[in-house]
Amino acid sequence: MNEASPASHFIREIVDEDRAAGKNGGRVHTRFPPEPNGYLHIGHSKAICLSFGLAADYPGGLCNLRFDDTNPTKEEEEYVRAIIEDIRWLGFDWGERLFYASDYFEKLCEWAEDLIRKGKAYVCDLTADEIRAYRGTLTEPGRESPHRGRTVEENLGLFRRMRAGEFPDGSRTLRAKIDMAHGNMNMRDPILYRILRARHHRTGDAWCIYPTYDWAHGQSDSIEGITHSLCTLEFEDHRPLYDWFLEQLGVFRPRQIEFAKLLVSHTILSKRRLRLLVEEGMVSGWDDPRMPTLSGLRRRGFTPESIRSLCDRVGVAKKESLVDNALVEHCLREDLNRRAPRAMAVLRPLRVELVNYPEGKSEELEAVNNPEDPSAGRRLVPFSRELYIERDDFMEDPPKQFYRLAPGREVRLRYAYFIRCVEVVKDVSGEPVLLRCTYDPATRGGDAPDGRKVKATIHWVSAPEAVPAEVRLYDTLLTIADPGEIEEGKDFRYYLNPKSLEILDACRLEPSLAAAKPGEPVQFERLGYFTADSADSAPGRLVFNRAVTLRDTWEKIRKSQQA
Ligand code: ATP
Ligand code: MG
Repeated sequence: MNEASPASHFIREIVDEDRAAGKNGGRVHTRFPPEPNGYLHIGHSKAICLSFGLAADYPGGLCNLRFDDTNPTKEEEEYVRAIIEDIRWLGFDWGERLFYASDYFEKLCEWAEDLIRKGKAYVCDLTADEIRAYRGTLTEPGRESPHRGRTVEENLGLFRRMRAGEFPDGSRTLRAKIDMAHGNMNMRDPILYRILRARHHRTGDAWCIYPTYDWAHGQSDSIEGITHSLCTLEFEDHRPLYDWFLEQLGVFRPRQIEFAKLLVSHTILSKRRLRLLVEEGMVSGWDDPRMPTLSGLRRRGFTPESIRSLCDRVGVAKKESLVDNALVEHCLREDLNRRAPRAMAVLRPLRVELVNYPEGKSEELEAVNNPEDPSAGRRLVPFSRELYIERDDFMEDPPKQFYRLAPGREVRLRYAYFIRCVEVVKDVSGEPVLLRCTYDPATRGGDAPDGRKVKATIHWVSAPEAVPAEVRLYDTLLTIADPGEIEEGKDFRYYLNPKSLEILDACRLEPSLAAAKPGEPVQFERLGYFTADSADSAPGRLVFNRAVTLRDTWEKIRKSQQA
């Protein structure tokens, strides 16, 4: 079991009913069938959590990983490797049951001949354009192909010659013989095979005919003994065909059930479009931390726990809805708040000199590693006469609501002392470049023995020991919330957020962060959750990504929805 009591939803109810009725001997066997034509994105994680999670909730339940590799022109080995890595990272396991639809090419061919022999399939010589024209529309029936009446012998002979490579690409297809006037367009003599001389990532040049998704999918499910084949709503109209093929063949019949896709605001969830961004260099790759891919989210600092928690919260339904990106971030924050150690880092440094602190002296002050987790313990951070604070934590002429450092004003340095600004040194342009401050030795640890209060606590790092780093801050990929609202004639690239990446290259971190590893989240106090960049960070040249800020806009949205 995944959890004590997994949330119920309509698919679980169907599975429970099937089991109660003794279907499939009570077995529950699902599959996740990615097409290896791109990297997995956060939308896929819903399908993964659902199919793997559901199987795990039943005794003996299994979930296969099957690559749906029927389209040789778009598929690559790199994607297979990345998909495997991403599903493992999410926390799921398929045991020995890693399959490829291409494993079944021979069997599918046998079954195609079966259909031909039953008079249920024929070789058609119409071109792709002609087939489209003959198909009719939603309101008009289609027209029958002039080749529909071919005899079984003729069809068998032609199909074998198609397979043997005797005809040029695109010149013939094998089609099911169903009903050209059917109300469901998918039932109007759909294509089973097309001729295509393309190298396949696994079968090489062995084949010059390739099965369509519709012909391969249900039969692959059947071969693997899948009991419940879960897919997204766009396949609902394909279900009659899915069932028709299995019925004609008289083989084991899995049950296809459709659910709504996970859609997330401010981003794109389509491998085709994401691929364009990669190919056109608009992002640094599939794992660019701005991408909604699992590899991008991982590199940015997302945890598998947070993504699984998102999928749990979103639930499983038949109605599509756009999930606010703020909820995605909220799930991450909730997870990291519990687990991530805290550290101090200054992103836009402003130098501070403590004029009454002895030159050459340094000391170590105790800091709490995680206030949410006492077992995380404490650490020592160096303190000295020369410090950095955040540029934004000082204002020369502060407005009313600004309580942080200003000329003459006293604030607390976290875990350290009270300091008071006594002099502002500026550069030629009038920008403050150095604050001269006094510190009060009696306030060590952060409290004044005389009960004196300050209104703000700010973070800092000691300059001599600080480690330099580059820090990358991210904003949403798109400027619009709903990618479904992209105007006709406008390309989604028009809505790419020009401010999606901000690079700060003069950051200063407390020395403990020099040892930070990619995948280990850390909270920079007051700034957000960060992780070392898996591609670019190295000892001596640290690069950190901000996964998420501390500001929880989801809580605001939720409260305003309640009000
Ligand atoms: P894309 O449009 O991003 O290319 P796809 O559906 O073509 O997605 P597949 O590799 O075929 O990509 O998807 C594998 C499985 O993941 C399918 O069963 C599909 O229904 C499911 N899936 C794809 N996108 C989503 C999504 N946004 N939410 C939930 N499930 C999804
Ligand atoms: Mg697909």
